[in-house]
Amino acid sequence: MNEFDLIKKYFNFTSNHALLGIGDDAALIPFNKNEFMAISMDTLNIGHHFTEDSDPYYLGWKSLAVNVSDIVSMGGQPRYALLSISLKNLDVNWIGKFTKGIKACAKKYNIEIIGGDTNKGSTSISIAIMGNVSSKNVLKRSGAIPGDEIWVTNEVGYAALHFNQHSLLPKYKKSISNCLKKRSQEEFLKPQPPLEFIQETKSLINSAIDLSDGLAGDLQHILNSSSVGAKIEINEIPMHKWFKENNQYELAMCGGEDYQILMTVPHKHHNKIQNLLKKHSLKGAMIGKITKDKKIEYSLHGKKIKLSKEGFTHFG
Ligand code: ADP
Ligand code: MG
Repeated sequence: MNEFDLIKKYFNFTSNHALLGIGDDAALIPFNKNEFMAISMDTLNIGHHFTEDSDPYYLGWKSLAVNVSDIVSMGGQPRYALLSISLKNLDVNWIGKFTKGIKACAKKYNIEIIGGDTNKGSTSISIAIMGNVSSKNVLKRSGAIPGDEIWVTNEVGYAALHFNQHSLLPKYKKSISNCLKKRSQEEFLKPQPPLEFIQETKSLINSAIDLSDGLAGDLQHILNSSSVGAKIEINEIPMHKWFKENNQYELAMCGGEDYQILMTVPHKHHNKIQNLLKKHSLKGAMIGKITKDKKIEYSLHGKKIKLSKEGFTHFG
């Protein structure tokens, strides 16, 4: 039983007043005449998401950024957050750096941290985030329509390369340049969800999900929620050339923690999406199409292939 089966079997609480409950990147509740409130939470745990040696500044940044990502993918503007933190001991130097990082992220995305909870325990950081979404442009996982183009907002795979680099075969390890190593580390430590791009394009988008578990697994969530299928050309997926030269496509597609957006868009908006990606300096691309047939078909340079693994899951 993986994380998703667990949620389906035990945590699938029913809701009466929420407009959207369990099953998307954020829940939606009524807010005002023209807007919904999107609410979500995400946790980072020591030993799993980070280690004793992790830089507290970046941990602060990342703990908020992964939450921002879930609001962005709903087409929302993040507004307020609550921070719940458990700490093993009182290391004020660590805490000072951590808060500096979280404040930097809050400033970039214009978020107010309005409360939280502090406890002693294994280091763990949980953030609950709230944002507003225009009721006209809510982006759900369930909105994909056959014929939609599938786009990703930026290159994927850097974070996965960073945290899997030590388990690669020596020949692959050797081929990673220092520049790529540095870039992968930066992307892993400091994810930057594309808020401004999604705010500008949300009226063109039919469905969206944030890439937290890897493109392959997250795409499957859109397909399941929308009862559709997809055809993907792997060579079109934007990723550093190292992945392609070393046949490490699956690492880029299944590793996770990209915090970019996977979205489906009607063909008529193709040029607009392309231009707006450029405007926001994003290396996004169209990677395939939504199909009626409820299955996923991957091809590499036009030749059908099967992936050997799917996205990341806890307890998977
Ligand atoms: P994401 O990867 O976008 O953060 P998750 O995969 O963690 O989303 O969760 C999928 C869905 O299940 C979300 O709608 C989330 O709110 C819900 N969910 C996850 N864990 C629980 C839980 N313990 N109780 C209730 N709902 C949950
Ligand atoms: Mg998500």
